[in-house]
Amino acid sequence: MKKKLPAVRPNVGIEAEYRESLQKMIERMHRSVMYWVTAAYRKNEPEIAKDELPARALQRSMKRLARRWEKNIDEVAPKLAAHFARSTLTRSDKALERILRNGGMTVKFTLSKPMRDVLQAKIAENVSLIRSIPSQYFTQIEGKVMRSVQRGRDLSELVPDLQKQYGVTRRRAALIARDQNNKATSAYQVARQTSLGLEEGIWMHSGGGQHPRPKHVAANGKKFKLSEGLPVGDKGQKVLPGEEINCKCVWRPVIPGLT
Ligand SMILES: [Zn+2]
Repeated sequence: MKKKLPAVRPNVGIEAEYRESLQKMIERMHRSVMYWVTAAYRKNEPEIAKDELPARALQRSMKRLARRWEKNIDEVAPKLAAHFARSTLTRSDKALERILRNGGMTVKFTLSKPMRDVLQAKIAENVSLIRSIPSQYFTQIEGKVMRSVQRGRDLSELVPDLQKQYGVTRRRAALIARDQNNKATSAYQVARQTSLGLEEGIWMHSGGGQHPRPKHVAANGKKFKLSEGLPVGDKGQKVLPGEEINCKCVWRPVIPGLT
């Protein structure tokens, strides 16, 4: 048996699946906004610029659309978040089981009470992130539409602005998927490994990012307690690999008594 086990890495397939689900949802929302904006402008041009009434009506109708999408996404968020959090847990458990088996230990994980708590926390975290997508998006879209109306601009000037916001929202979804996949894997692994009496890890810096954190590069190879982490957080706080935004670092579990 080796004294250090290989690291468990976040599963890229799950990240891709989560990202695609979020982006599909955003695409449907954006398409409905573009449809609505086009129809509203066609109906009101050219008096849209001069008259205050159409502007107010436009704003009301836009708010209705925003509320409808917020409600839709509120409803799908728990299901989507649960699916993501559960798949991440299943894959994370399978990966650790395989690593332990190769090291000569047979373990079959079950959904224990502490594990269920971690799972519930991850579901809740993702539900609120998913719900924040339409509210952030519509705040920006409403602002852009109302400014366009006030300045008497036409649709051809507004559309590129709305498309740009669509891109921003899609990229935010990609970041959520990547970051939550790293964070969930990290949290699940800490819970599982400590339940097995594995209490330490060797930090492994994972590049790939264009802007590696120098503190994480320096942490590479350092031993830490899974209950504590290393003081390499962006604010100097103790963090675990994969815990900070966009951090792809992982760790190798240390088998106690053998180092
Ligand atoms: Zn890192």
